[in-house]
Amino acid sequence: MSEAYDVVVIGSGPAGYVCAIKCAQLGLQTAIVESWTDGKGKPVFGGTCLNVGCIPSKALLDSSHKFAEARDHFGDHGIGIKSQSIDVSSMLARKNKIVSQLTGGVSSLLQHNGVTVVQGRGQLKAGRSVAVTDESGAVKELSATNVVLASGSEPINIPPAPVDNDVIVDSTGALEFDEVPERLGVIGAGVIGLELGSVWGRLGAEVVLFEALDSFLPMMDAQVSKEAAKVFKKQGLDIKLGARVVKTEVKKGGVTVTYSEKGEEVTAEFDRLIVAVGRKPRTQDLFTEDSGVTMDERGFVFVNDSCVTEAPGVWAIGDIVRGPMLAHKGSEEGVMVAERIHGKPVQLNYDCVPSIIYTHPEIAAVGKTEQELKAEGVDYKAGSFPFAAIGRALASGETDGFVKIIADAKTDRVLGAHAIGPAAADLVQQMVITMEFGGSAEDLQLMVFGHPTMSEAVHEAALAVDNMAIHMPNRKKR
Ligand code: FAD
Ligand code: AMP
Repeated sequence: MSEAYDVVVIGSGPAGYVCAIKCAQLGLQTAIVESWTDGKGKPVFGGTCLNVGCIPSKALLDSSHKFAEARDHFGDHGIGIKSQSIDVSSMLARKNKIVSQLTGGVSSLLQHNGVTVVQGRGQLKAGRSVAVTDESGAVKELSATNVVLASGSEPINIPPAPVDNDVIVDSTGALEFDEVPERLGVIGAGVIGLELGSVWGRLGAEVVLFEALDSFLPMMDAQVSKEAAKVFKKQGLDIKLGARVVKTEVKKGGVTVTYSEKGEEVTAEFDRLIVAVGRKPRTQDLFTEDSGVTMDERGFVFVNDSCVTEAPGVWAIGDIVRGPMLAHKGSEEGVMVAERIHGKPVQLNYDCVPSIIYTHPEIAAVGKTEQELKAEGVDYKAGSFPFAAIGRALASGETDGFVKIIADAKTDRVLGAHAIGPAAADLVQQMVITMEFGGSAEDLQLMVFGHPTMSEAVHEAALAVDNMAIHMPNRKKR
C-alpha cells in the first residue's frame, strides 16, 4: 500500500523546502523526501545552500573579512593591534554552528507546518508514484496528485584535476581546510572560485586563480568586470585568464598544476587546489523513463516558464532546471509551483532575479547589461556614480566601485542595474523592487534617499542616467 499525498517534493534544498512549506500553508497534504542524513539516519535539511553552499561560505567570508579589516584597515582608524592570529578550528566551529542552527530551523518549520518528512532517496516512477529507498535499503511507496522534483546540483569534476578531498578539493572541501594553505590554486575564476579564493587569501594564502576563458566575469556588465579585476588585483588575487589547467600531479605535501597559456604549458606548485569549474544538475536515477519526465544532454529537466515538466502533474524547480543556479531563484520557483498547484497562476519574473558575488566589495546585478542591450539593438541610456563621491562610503573607507543604472532611452523604464561596492547586494535589491514595479529612472530621481547612506549612490546613478548627477560633474551638460 502506498501513502497518498496531494504533493510529494523530492529534495529539501531552498527550492524544495520552501515549496513544501508553501504547499502546506495552502492546505495541501504534503510530504518531503530527503536523502542526506547526519550518518545516524536523521535527515539533514537545507540542501547545498544551508550545508555546503551559500551559508557556510558567507560565514567564512565574514570571518575572513573581519581578519583582513583588522590587519589592513584598523590602523586607518587609529586602532592598533599588537598581534593578530587566526584559529582556523574556531572559525570552522562558528560556521558549523550557524549551519546547524539554520538546518535545525528548517526541520522545525517543516514540522510546524505539518509537512511529512520521509528519509531516503526518492525516484519518480510512472503515474506519479515515488519509491523512497532509506539508508537500510527498505523501500516505501508514495503516491501524489503532484510531484515536485528539487534534487539540486553537485560540483563538476574535470579529468585533469580529480578531487581527492585532501590536496585537491571541490567547493565543499574548501569550506573545511584545517589550516590556511601557504599557496592555494583555484581552477575557475567564477563566482564560487572568487568567493572561496577570497576567504583563504584574506587569511594569508597566496592565491592563484586559473580561468580558461580570456574574459573575466563575462556574464557581468563589462564596466563592473573591469573594476572587479582591478580591485581583486589590488587585494593580491592572481587571476590568470586564458589559462586552462590540463594536468595535476599530487605529491607529498602538495600538487603540481600544469596549465596551458598562449599555447605554452606552464607549471605551478600549490599546497592545496580548489576545483570550482561549475555545477551540474543531480538528475541521475531521479526518475524512470516511463515517468514521462525528459531532460537535455547536460541533465537539466525540461520545463516551461512555470516549471511544468513534460509529465502531467510533475514539476521541477531549482538547480535542476534552466536559469541561474541560485538559491533565491529556486525558492521563488517553489512558491510559484505551490501557488499553481493550489490554482493561482502566479508567474515568477525571470527578468528580475538578482545575482550576487559576495567578495569584498560585493558585486551585484539585475536585468540587462550594456553589452546585452547593444546586442539586442535596444536604445538605452546609462548612468553610473562612484562610491568615492559618497560621504557615507568615505566615512567607512569603502570607496571602491560604483552603481550603474540602465534605462530605456524612449520610455525611461529601468532595464538593469549593476553595482560593485559596499552593500552592493542590498542596493541592487532596491533596483529589483523598482523594476518589478515598472519604475523609471525619473521615479528614482524624484525619491528621497536618506543621508548619509550608501543608497545615495543609487539616487545619483539614476540622476546620472540623464546627466543630472548633483555630486559629480556630468559627462554631457544638458
Ligand atoms: P540543493 O540545495 O542542491 O538541494 C537539493 C537537495 O535534494 C539536497 O538536500 C539533496 O540531498 C536532495 N536530494 C537530491 N536527490 C535526491 C533524491 N533522489 N531523493 C531525495 N533527496 C534528494 N546561491 C545563492 O543564491 N547565493 C549564494 O551566496 C550562493 N553561494 C554558494 C556557495 C557555494 C560554495 C555553493 C556550492 C553554492 C552556492 N549557491 C549560492 C548556490 C545554491 O547553493 C544553489 O543554487 C541552491 O542550493 C540550489 O537549491 P536546490 O534546492 O535546487 O538544490
Ligand atoms: P562558474 O560556472 O561561474 O562557477 O565558473 C567556472 C569557471 O571555470 C568557468 O569560467 C570556466 O571557464 C572555468 N574552467 C572550466 N574548466 C577549466 C580548466 N580546466 N581550467 C581553467 N578554468 C576552467
